Amino acid sequence: MSSQNLQVHFCGLFPESFLTWSNLKPNLNGMFACDLCDKEYKYKRNLYSHKKDECGQEPRFQCPQCSYRTKRKGNLKSHLAIRHECYLDDSANC
Ligand SMILES: [Zn+2]
Ligand SMILES: [Zn+2]
Repeated sequence: MSSQNLQVHFCGLFPESFLTWSNLKPNLNGMFACDLCDKEYKYKRNLYSHKKDECGQEPRFQCPQCSYRTKRKGNLKSHLAIRHECYLDDSANC
């Protein structure tokens, strides 16, 4: 992926912090660290999607059978499989 493509991508989704993103430097470990939590990523784009999809976001996926909530649909699927022996797919109604 060229840096030009990245810039277009970041610019469209993160206009106010575009400069921050393009100037972001890896830390001493060569990792890109989230400034809101302690997660670190090897690639800037992974940190970007962490911030966009995970960090500071409300968990969007609620277990229909208990109070478990998660930010990732995959986690809810494995939660249902493990805790409720229920296998979620889009047509399932269990
Ligand atoms: Zn974070
Ligand atoms: Zn549950």
